[in-house]
Amino acid sequence: MYNEKISDDANLNELIDYYLKNFNNPEIMDELKWEDPYLYLQITRLHFIKQLQDTTPTYKCPDCGDNIVHDEWGEEYCESCGLVTRTPYDYVAGFKITLPYGRK
Ligand SMILES: [Zn+2]
Repeated sequence: MYNEKISDDANLNELIDYYLKNFNNPEIMDELKWEDPYLYLQITRLHFIKQLQDTTPTYKCPDCGDNIVHDEWGEEYCESCGLVTRTPYDYVAGFKITLPYGRK
């Protein structure tokens, strides 16, 4: 009985990790919202707290570690590999985009 409880907790932690990793995936998050609204709320709260604690240096590229520069439209990108890390927009050519450091 006691062991069952532990494995339940482990599963829940794995589930939480999974949803936090996929927080920017609207398909996965929408599905969770319908299937388990309580867990969805919990994930949303955890994600919010994680963001507050997040000290990721947004001036370094998450892929190659090089400097992030920004252009005249406020878009931030890596000067080496060209990865766009932040933009003021959610959409590019009608497609919703997911950015490593989120929207500005
Ligand atoms: Zn880069």
